[in-house]
Amino acid sequence: PKGGNLDWKKTPCRFCGVGCGVLVGIENGKAVAVKGDPNSPVNKGLCCVKGYHSVIALYGKDRLTKPLIKKNGRYVETSMKEALDLIASKMKETIADYGKDAVSIYGSGQWTIPDGYVASKLFKGCIGTNNIEANARLCMASAVTGFMTSFGIDEPMGCYEDIDYANVFVLWGNNMAEMHPVLFSRLLDQRLKRGVKIIDFATRTTRTSMAADKSIIFKPQTDLAVANAICYEIIKNGWVNKAFVEKHCNFSKGLTEMGYGMEDNYQFNDKPENISFEDFKGFLNDYTPEKVEKISGVSAKDIKYMAAHYGNPNTKVMSLWCMGPNQHTRGTWMNNLIYNIHLLTGKISTPGNSPFSLTGQPSACGTVREVGTLTHKLPHGVVMNEEHRKHAAEIWNVPVENIPSKPTYHTVEMFRALDRGDIRFMWIQVTNPMVTMPKLKRYRDATKKEGRFIVVSDVYPTPTTDIADVILPSAMWIEREGMYGNSERRTQYFEKMIEPSGEAMSDTWQLVEVAKRLGFEKQFHYKEETHIEEIYNEYRRHHEGKKHAMAPLDVLKSQPGAQWPYVDGKSTQWRFNAEYDPACSNGEKFHFYGKPDGKAVIWQRPYEPAPEEPDTEYPFWLCTGRVVEHWHTGSMTRRIPVLHKAMPHAYVELNPGQAKEMQIKTGDRVKISSRRGEIILPASVNERGVPERNQVFVPFFDENMLINDVTLDAFCPISKQPDYKKCAVKVEKA
Ligand code: SF4
Repeated sequence: PKGGNLDWKKTPCRFCGVGCGVLVGIENGKAVAVKGDPNSPVNKGLCCVKGYHSVIALYGKDRLTKPLIKKNGRYVETSMKEALDLIASKMKETIADYGKDAVSIYGSGQWTIPDGYVASKLFKGCIGTNNIEANARLCMASAVTGFMTSFGIDEPMGCYEDIDYANVFVLWGNNMAEMHPVLFSRLLDQRLKRGVKIIDFATRTTRTSMAADKSIIFKPQTDLAVANAICYEIIKNGWVNKAFVEKHCNFSKGLTEMGYGMEDNYQFNDKPENISFEDFKGFLNDYTPEKVEKISGVSAKDIKYMAAHYGNPNTKVMSLWCMGPNQHTRGTWMNNLIYNIHLLTGKISTPGNSPFSLTGQPSACGTVREVGTLTHKLPHGVVMNEEHRKHAAEIWNVPVENIPSKPTYHTVEMFRALDRGDIRFMWIQVTNPMVTMPKLKRYRDATKKEGRFIVVSDVYPTPTTDIADVILPSAMWIEREGMYGNSERRTQYFEKMIEPSGEAMSDTWQLVEVAKRLGFEKQFHYKEETHIEEIYNEYRRHHEGKKHAMAPLDVLKSQPGAQWPYVDGKSTQWRFNAEYDPACSNGEKFHFYGKPDGKAVIWQRPYEPAPEEPDTEYPFWLCTGRVVEHWHTGSMTRRIPVLHKAMPHAYVELNPGQAKEMQIKTGDRVKISSRRGEIILPASVNERGVPERNQVFVPFFDENMLINDVTLDAFCPISKQPDYKKCAVKVEKA
């Protein structure tokens, strides 16, 4: 398009959790162009390759445009009315035969805020089951439990503007250059302008390591030990900010038992116990840099180098992380440990001093964490708390007894319940678990068992629509109205810009239609033309108050988003700091008001080996992850020809020395097998990649090479988030 006559409209990008503002050019009812929004404080006019090509994903040849029902093993087209009638009658039948907890819904951080909100209201408030989960459990649950245990309230205290003030950036297992490319470009920009330092602390060499000032490689799982060694050095060298720690921190220790939930119906308790600073200091004696060098492979010199940056009173440090510390069988602990470093030095909640946990999906924060689409959560608070249940029930217009006080199944357990037959009906929206679940074969087989009924709402056919009894075509992104919430607590609105493909309907309205058919007209009284506004206004009521207030819709419509808490017409950029956060009320400079005594917690968290490590039979570590060209499972970006051509399939990244010994060249077929399954895929041997001979990396986006048939379903006992970064595999030339 020439661009001159286009009608440009603003929206957040469809893909990742950075939440770039983009402008979409509309011509004759079609989205024909995209550019970065220069007014967006997130990306200031820039996009990455996915953002620049995003509108092409709306027009793939095989868009789902009609509902499909499986009859005698074949999919036949039907009307939307018939499909929605069938879903509602199957839900009624399942509840009558097996009880409320036999129906479930599984969504994602790609749900818009209204999608997740109506799903939660329908399942928790109206049907009366806590069987709602989202795939964000697989990517940021440890970040949530990290925040909750350290601060008592979720989500980062800082914002992206911290990048403009920090002098040192420590990236903890975070390949930002490829996973959060636009944000990473802001780091590089600051290096050009101010000479800031970037330290990449990771298990493999990536584009981030190449761009960093220093790359430090650690053995998988030993980040726990290195973080403790940094704390040891901070205390030993007198770099503790004593005034801050005495006034604003407590010390605790918690769960120390082993076990990673690999069996069904596991039970764990995290019982905290207060300890003193001296106890904490004594505990760290096991983590001198010299001792940790032996565990981690990181030299004592490099550990001291990292500690010195945190300890230097003249530097401002931003720590950034995402899947590395989160997809970890001790993910909660890893999050706690990074906070420990910032709390000990008092480098927190001020511009440039910022422990910053990034998210992967466009609304992992906005929908999953803030709306609360997890089994234990409510839009404000948790189901275990009676006051929180009362608050939700009043807004939802349901009796409080409707909302069960006990969580049911987190994601891995939800699929195990489907396998056992405790769950009989599952509705999957806007996610692709038949690519992303760990130990995938078990859960794929579960969906195919007799007596299970699966509904899948999506925009393209995927391995997950393959297992559906009913497929609903969903309206995608700007084909409907909605909001996403990004990693820096920024809620962003987008209007409906084009008509949906065929009979595609928004996930929100699909749920509203089924809710009405289930008899909940009173709770789902929304009008089709105004339902997004009505739902958002209702949702805002859950978060009223200075600690979590959400911006009004007219503000979201007129601005490139707003950051909660939104108080007195202003976004809050730095929480817990009285200078910026109106919720601080203790008269001090800092107030960690998520905890009853206003103090953050420094946790004693030890190093533990991974549940499955390489051995003689399976001698390699396997790490999985993403590539810059594809969003998540590639179901949308693989329909964008230029991105598909740039990265057409998955590969296994091998260390050059190891590849030589095994006589494997780039492009050779390689078999990767574990105790759970095997796949064959082409080798990639180059200097980018795994440093050690016993490590391999495979991206997970390719539905034709499902690496999750090989991965392990062990998870962090506190967050229940699985570890996709470590398991033991065998590598052979195929
Ligand atoms: Fe979209 Fe993320 Fe790329 Fe920004 S960095 S353009 S939000 S995919």
